[in-house]
Amino acid sequence: ALKILDTCINCDMCDPECPNEAITLGEEIYEIDPNKCTECVGHYEKAQCVIACPIDCIKPDPDHVESEEDLLVKCYEMHGIP
Ligand code: SF4
Ligand code: SF4
Repeated sequence: ALKILDTCINCDMCDPECPNEAITLGEEIYEIDPNKCTECVGHYEKAQCVIACPIDCIKPDPDHVESEEDLLVKCYEMHGIP
């Protein structure tokens, strides 16, 4: 999963781009739900939130490192693709 750093300026550019609705406004800044973030694997070649973010504050989450295969399985499970 990816993670939003605390330098986030709450511009809301990333949230509508997520194919998994993994991004929401938390108590102070936008947050990514690591259970829903597939790093866009299965949908796009590049992380759409990273492309959308004007200040480049979305980075890999060191607490949720997943392989490409793990991410694809997560995508299939979430979207009901067998
Ligand atoms: Fe959503 Fe993709 Fe960003 Fe993860 S990397 S939060 S799936 S847009
Ligand atoms: Fe924060 Fe970047 Fe998302 Fe804007 S696009 S809300 S700065 S993470």
